[in-house]
Amino acid sequence: MPSSIKFGKIAGIEVGIDWSWIPIFLVFTYLFATGTLDHFFPHWSNAAKWTAGAITSAIFFASLLAHELAHSFVARSKGLDVRGITLFFFGGVSNLGGEPRSAGDEFVIAVVGPLTSLVMGAVFGLGWVIIHPFSPGVAGVSAQLGVINATLAVFNMVPGFPLDGGRVLRSILWQRTRNLHQATHIASMAGEGVGYLLIGTGIVFLLFGSVLNGVYFFIVGLFLRGIAASSYQQMVTDEALSGLKAGEAAARNCEVVPPDLSIENVVDNFVLLHNIRCFPVQSDDRLLGLVTLEDIRHIPREQWPITPVEKAMTSFDRLHAVSPDEDLRQVLQLMARQDINQVPVVDDGQLIGLISRSDILRLIQARRELQHDR
Ligand SMILES: [Zn+2]
Repeated sequence: MPSSIKFGKIAGIEVGIDWSWIPIFLVFTYLFATGTLDHFFPHWSNAAKWTAGAITSAIFFASLLAHELAHSFVARSKGLDVRGITLFFFGGVSNLGGEPRSAGDEFVIAVVGPLTSLVMGAVFGLGWVIIHPFSPGVAGVSAQLGVINATLAVFNMVPGFPLDGGRVLRSILWQRTRNLHQATHIASMAGEGVGYLLIGTGIVFLLFGSVLNGVYFFIVGLFLRGIAASSYQQMVTDEALSGLKAGEAAARNCEVVPPDLSIENVVDNFVLLHNIRCFPVQSDDRLLGLVTLEDIRHIPREQWPITPVEKAMTSFDRLHAVSPDEDLRQVLQLMARQDINQVPVVDDGQLIGLISRSDILRLIQARRELQHDR
């Protein structure tokens, strides 16, 4: 999950706002204040227009939230763990734990969001009809909110994963092929395709001098292409690593060395002869740190005879140790988050082994190849 501002909880579901939403909130406030509100209430002061603009933006924000809450409530009723909702600059994302159990579940979870937006669009439209005889201005604002919600429904139904329409597409493909992996692959390729289409549209707008539209389409397209590709990658990784624990994947070819042993000694006796790649540095039964091939590579060759391993090691307090029961997917996330290439697996103060990013990638590769053969 990207960094977001925690907003509170609604029916046990955590709601956050991504930082990217703040400029959009301001842009919408500006557009409402100088557009619709200025048109209907020209005699209002600027302060009144901007305040009303912010309120209108907040209502728009609430309708986005309603869309996401609909996804989350249905997902929860289908037995999925709902971790939270984050609102982004072009909509929201419900952070669901795991994949839906069936194509039918996925279809309902996906379709209920745009349906909610469509209903809200109709409600605001009805608001326009009812309010118009009394206050054309307020009715006008209601009509605009109706149009925005309807647009939201239509945009989200674009058939590119991970947009709602892409999820609907995936559920249909999943139902037909009975193959979630293949369905996700096709749906996310469609997502990338839609992303490129939006980027192209943005460029056309820019060429014709429409800067605001151009930039908006370009950014949304770029974003959609990116998340389509990464959500497919994410699924491939999750699938390959599902059920694996850190203890099972840890390389156990470690050799305990004293802190004053030279690097040359380590290389000659352990690395070259026995292909041992990880060296817990221990003194009086205390784990001081860890030396890996990666650390050794950072020391110039000619200094190996005179450098003790202690100098090359990463000290224990800087290691992000994990327990053997840790889910391997979480370990990979930890490495990505901390930007580290390896973590020691430690049980009760005892080093069990080492997991490196390249080991995990090889594991993913191997498991994928075996899956394809099946
Ligand atoms: Zn949605």
